[in-house]
Amino acid sequence: MDTRTILETPIEFLKGVGPNRAELLKKELAVYTFSDLLQLYPFRYVDRSKFYKIREITSDTTYLQLKGTIRGLEMKGEGGRARLTAKFYDDSGFVELVWFQGIKWAREAIKPNKTYVILGKPSLYGGVWSFAHPEIEEAELFEQSVVGAMQPVYPSTEKLSSRGLNSRGIEKLLRVLVPQVEVAIVENLALDTLKQFRLMPRQLAISQIHFPQSPELLEKAQVRLKFEELFFLQLDILKLKLGRDRTIKGYVFDQVGDYFNTFFKHYLPFELTDAQKRVIKEIRRDTQIGKQMNRLLQGDVGSGKTIVALMVMLIAIDNGFQAVLMAPTEILANQHFESIATLLAPVGVSVKLLTGSTKIKERRIIAEGIQDGTIHILIGTHAVIEDKVQLKNLGIVIIDEQHRFGVAQRAKLWEKSEIPPHVLVMTATPIPRTLAMTIYGDLDVSVIDQLPPGRKPIKTMHLFESGRQKMLQFIKEEIGKGRQVYVVYPLIEESEKLDFKDLTEGYEAITHFFPQPQYKVCMVHGRMKPAEKDAEMERFKNGEAHIMVATTVIEVGVNVPNASIMIIESSERFGLSQLHQLRGRVGRGAEQSYCLLMTGNKLSNESKIRMQTMVRTTDGFEIAEVDLKLRGPGDLMGTQQSGVLNLKIADIARDQQLVQAARQAASDILKEDPDLRKGEHRPILAFVQKRKIGKVTWSQIS
Ligand code: ADP
Ligand code: MG
Repeated sequence: MDTRTILETPIEFLKGVGPNRAELLKKELAVYTFSDLLQLYPFRYVDRSKFYKIREITSDTTYLQLKGTIRGLEMKGEGGRARLTAKFYDDSGFVELVWFQGIKWAREAIKPNKTYVILGKPSLYGGVWSFAHPEIEEAELFEQSVVGAMQPVYPSTEKLSSRGLNSRGIEKLLRVLVPQVEVAIVENLALDTLKQFRLMPRQLAISQIHFPQSPELLEKAQVRLKFEELFFLQLDILKLKLGRDRTIKGYVFDQVGDYFNTFFKHYLPFELTDAQKRVIKEIRRDTQIGKQMNRLLQGDVGSGKTIVALMVMLIAIDNGFQAVLMAPTEILANQHFESIATLLAPVGVSVKLLTGSTKIKERRIIAEGIQDGTIHILIGTHAVIEDKVQLKNLGIVIIDEQHRFGVAQRAKLWEKSEIPPHVLVMTATPIPRTLAMTIYGDLDVSVIDQLPPGRKPIKTMHLFESGRQKMLQFIKEEIGKGRQVYVVYPLIEESEKLDFKDLTEGYEAITHFFPQPQYKVCMVHGRMKPAEKDAEMERFKNGEAHIMVATTVIEVGVNVPNASIMIIESSERFGLSQLHQLRGRVGRGAEQSYCLLMTGNKLSNESKIRMQTMVRTTDGFEIAEVDLKLRGPGDLMGTQQSGVLNLKIADIARDQQLVQAARQAASDILKEDPDLRKGEHRPILAFVQKRKIGKVTWSQIS
């Protein structure tokens, strides 16, 4: 057998697996081959040479190992609540063991009055420490097998456990597999890379990750395998970008003409900030060279991205093209439409709005106008990328707040024309550098790192329920001074009904404290018809209503400069970036603005950190870094949905330096040898090709 086929041997042929267990391994852990099992890395290591006593358990205990005897196996509960319980004694006390699943297996396998070793996480239940689904093994067998101070812990599932493939079971398979195939594990990085970053060879790393001989070797193995994973991720991203740059043509916008100049000279309502000017120049440069622009524009809330979008669209129009601006919600699309159409009216640019609630007749008129080219700018929600919409000459697509736009929706843009339009993605969600390198690693990045002049930093406070009267009093005073107020409630899907109740009760309470006719309160939420929403928004925008009670529909982009107070109810239920977005709705005018974070009295540590961070800083990037550390990248911006961060061992948040190093390495290699033709890069190419089979490629999700 050559080395390649050994690693690709189907998993059922491993000693101790067989067809049934193989089925389960495939289904539950996506382990199909020897190679897949090798890459099922432990997620933790426990000291299995050490036993605790039951009386040593405290509420801080995480995982621990006990030795003792089982007494009294007993079924409790019925139907869906049926469970098997057992008492487990050592000489210092007893704990309870519980199985909700795999009961049949546990009943047969576990013998009363025998000595067992158990490993698990205790939790206090009815005054007794209890272990749900502990790892359990007869002490005699345990002592015969290899046990050490760094025993690997593998991912497993109930189903696997019931077939004897809990962590220990999987470990046993690996103890058979690793020595058998070790020699077949080949290097997949270039020697230079190994030297430059002092990385352990692959073969050693894989054997050490499973069965580390020392903490130092384990660490080196982890670094090596994380690097490898990140390297191939970056290689994919950079290759995609490179391929696109080499093969895909783009429209040339080589003139700045009358539309742009007239607007710039006569109708620009303010002086652009230096950052805005710089970004416009960057985009100008990109769109002149005959390649497709793929650019991400990052700028904190209120930094003035809209005007940049507008001016870039004017350049497109000056060159005979049409432009599309897409927003994630109708409210936002409306707002963009109003402000852009107003600004451009004197310049003679034709702007239309297309959303889900556009009437059929109007749709028909729009369809004609964009087909014959009389409409220059089309603004809308995803309605603009529906199949029927055909533009005559689409030159650029601008996507505002793209993290709400699915990858598939973005991909649709590409189908519209032979030469793809330039793409500018705008986001106010500050993305930490390493994450941007990964999610948007194929895009060029521009940053507006400066707010328009004259803004006063928003003052933020955190209040508990006891501060509610003070908060209401404060609102009253500010309304007295002519200000407007947002009161925002969370709305998350799982508890939509409850949330709705919170919202309507909140509305009642507010209208009670701020009675008509002296005060006017409006409300916007996701269950309203678009027309109703718009009417309520309008009452707030034109200053008729003092208070806007809303769910997070107002999160993105809404712009009412006279609104200077943001009250966020149940703040502990929002993520940091969402809190930051919401806060960004105020602080847009000349007045001092405030953000009050209301929370319940009991806060988790994480919630406390979130509140403290919001109170401490208004810097979006700082907030994003904290957010990334708290939540991990999977949660941010729908990255799960795009499936791009399917990492086995690396963690974008914790391994930031490795992300940078891996990107550097990948970029250096591609610069020197874009097709990986050189001898020293052959291992890389071989690995890339092997891995590609049957997997999603990046080009599908650009
Ligand atoms: P965002 O980047 O969050 O989309 P907007 O484009 O909505 O920000 O701009 C926020 C506010 O700042 C708007 O009222 C806009 O007119 C104003 N603005 C933008 N650029 C400038 C500038 N250079 N000087 C003064 N005000 C500006
Ligand atoms: Mg905006």
